[in-house]
Amino acid sequence: MYTAFMYSLDSSLDIVVGIGPTVANKLASKNLYTLQDLLLWAPLHYEDRSQQKLIMDLVKDELVTIQAEVTAVSNQYKGRRSIQRATIQDNSGSLKLIWFNSPYIKDTLKRGQSYFFSGQLNNRRMMTQPKIEKISRDTIHTNRLVPIYSTVTGIKPGNLRRYLKEIVDHLQPIDDPLAKQFDLLPLNTAFKHLHFPDDQQLTIDARKRLALEELLGLMQHSYRIKQQWKDRACAHFIKIDEKNLIPKLLFTLTHAQQRSLREILDNISSTTPMNRLLLGDVGSGKTVVAGIAARQVLQNNHHVAFIVPTQILAQQHLETLDQFFPEINTQLLTAKNKFILNDSPTIYIGTHAVINKLQDIKPALIIYDEQHRFGVKQRSEIYQLAFCPHLLTMSATPIPRSLMLTIFSHLELSVIDEMPAGRKPVKTWLIPEKKRTKSYNWIKRQLQQSGEQATPVGKQVLVICPFIDPSDVQAFANIKSATQTYETLKTEFADFKVELLHSRLSQAQKDHITQNLYNQKIDILVCTSIVEVGVDLPTVSIILIESAERFGLASLHQLRGRVGRAGQQAHCLLFSSVSLKETNQRLEVFTQTTDGMKLAEADLQNRGAGDLFGTQQHGFDQLKFANWTNVELITQARQIFNQLKDSTDWQPLISPPATNSCPNPN
Ligand code: ADP
Ligand code: MG
Repeated sequence: MYTAFMYSLDSSLDIVVGIGPTVANKLASKNLYTLQDLLLWAPLHYEDRSQQKLIMDLVKDELVTIQAEVTAVSNQYKGRRSIQRATIQDNSGSLKLIWFNSPYIKDTLKRGQSYFFSGQLNNRRMMTQPKIEKISRDTIHTNRLVPIYSTVTGIKPGNLRRYLKEIVDHLQPIDDPLAKQFDLLPLNTAFKHLHFPDDQQLTIDARKRLALEELLGLMQHSYRIKQQWKDRACAHFIKIDEKNLIPKLLFTLTHAQQRSLREILDNISSTTPMNRLLLGDVGSGKTVVAGIAARQVLQNNHHVAFIVPTQILAQQHLETLDQFFPEINTQLLTAKNKFILNDSPTIYIGTHAVINKLQDIKPALIIYDEQHRFGVKQRSEIYQLAFCPHLLTMSATPIPRSLMLTIFSHLELSVIDEMPAGRKPVKTWLIPEKKRTKSYNWIKRQLQQSGEQATPVGKQVLVICPFIDPSDVQAFANIKSATQTYETLKTEFADFKVELLHSRLSQAQKDHITQNLYNQKIDILVCTSIVEVGVDLPTVSIILIESAERFGLASLHQLRGRVGRAGQQAHCLLFSSVSLKETNQRLEVFTQTTDGMKLAEADLQNRGAGDLFGTQQHGFDQLKFANWTNVELITQARQIFNQLKDSTDWQPLISPPATNSCPNPN
């Protein structure tokens, strides 16, 4: 007989009823190994199937649940395809249902029995592909707010919900002293409401508790590092050659760049190891500042390691540094090419391949270009090295200075709060669907004009889509996918060179396409948010974002920041796949503001609207639950942390994520 088994957070997923080794392997491909991993895997969105209606009252396109009895069900094959039909009835009338290629329906539905059916009425007064579930108070797929998760290859969305339901229902009470001590929502309840909320407000409270855990984890990590790192005087002293500091650049440094540079140089000309964060909005010019500091280190006969999140960015930094400082040695490190240590001082640039070689390189300075992340985790690996390098982390995360230091007490901060002169703000338009053709024609004219110019500043176009493939989740049916859009644009822009780039392509394919983009052999590049990771695209002047409502404003800001960097007038065109007023108001705000911090704050205010969940799926942020601009929550976390930090029996639930991997846009 089945006895009620209670799971603990650290159990491995294969012991969960219904999961087993095969499914566990599939979940492992998403880095989900333990129950806790899966519980923290937040839904992207909740589909509201909670509204119950009578058949008589159904309105076209409205998502509802009906409770009705099956009066007929059939299955009809047409070659390899099949159609399933059913008729159902309640007290008010009857309704026809239809499914495609789902022969199991005929075995699921029994004539004379009642079920819940969730779906929308189409214009022929039928429901296509409704979800079916046995009637109970405790439904998972119908008659409630239904969690929608990002896809795991090989696992049906409905099964993911079943596994989570099983876990949430049979989870041991979590040892949670903080809940009592600080009057917080208990973790067990938070997990329940995160996955199976009775209303939208409950999910917000649940996320708040988990956000607090996330912040406590970061704070504790930072605190530990500071303890370990205190009073060590073991870094290399770098003698600064003031006369030969700033080589002939194409431009003069902004005041903010000069100030930040000075702060960095003061640090590295001391044996106390630097641990500094260089914060600056996209396009504020962080790379050149880091480059100048690196050059000084080379002149002192030491190597430098430059660690970046993606291969594309590594390649680009290499080219930038070679262009700014032609006399210095740079070397690209990839997982493939053989590593040879140079005799002469060199900047080694690459992704995590560089981290594995740190013991050999023994750099005096390590630069992380992390964009929207702070490499808290891998940095602890560095503390275990036998030598201590100076560390410089660069980030574009919009976070107020005071909050930054509240969370990351081990860091010192330099801020580039000024844009290079002559930058023209990107003109941003939210375009109604009915003007799509018109705007395509406008793009064509722009592309043609650039061909005629004597010195082309490039009029290439970047088209961003939230997903690679069309989604089979009904709620996402309108969302434009990269593959679909690519096919459409290939026809629409037949006279131009259109290409497609996404994370499933091989590295070689990606490199090839990126190279062609830089060489202006591509007019229009359709891609996922893969380009977010700090790539400088000076020749691209137009960015078009499909289903822009799927992105947080901060994410949109990062995307927009990619274009127009050669000082040309650039344009950002947004299309929305919903007609909701509030959603599009948010996008309107975006068309009028270019301040990254303001946009991040606006994002925060929109959290309550419940439609912006899961921006982390785009890899913009290392935070899953918290938001960098949430002053109130960060302050609360700090207060709690101050009482806990030296206690030996407290462990944060969520430890900082590894950040040296490439963010996965899908
Ligand atoms: P980010 O801070 O986003 O990493 P980058 O370092 O990529 O920005 O710089 C963005 C662009 O601005 C680059 O093309 C760079 O050469 C240019 N740039 C940097 N500093 C200045 C400056 N002081 N004046 C003009 N252009 C600059
Ligand atoms: Mg950058």
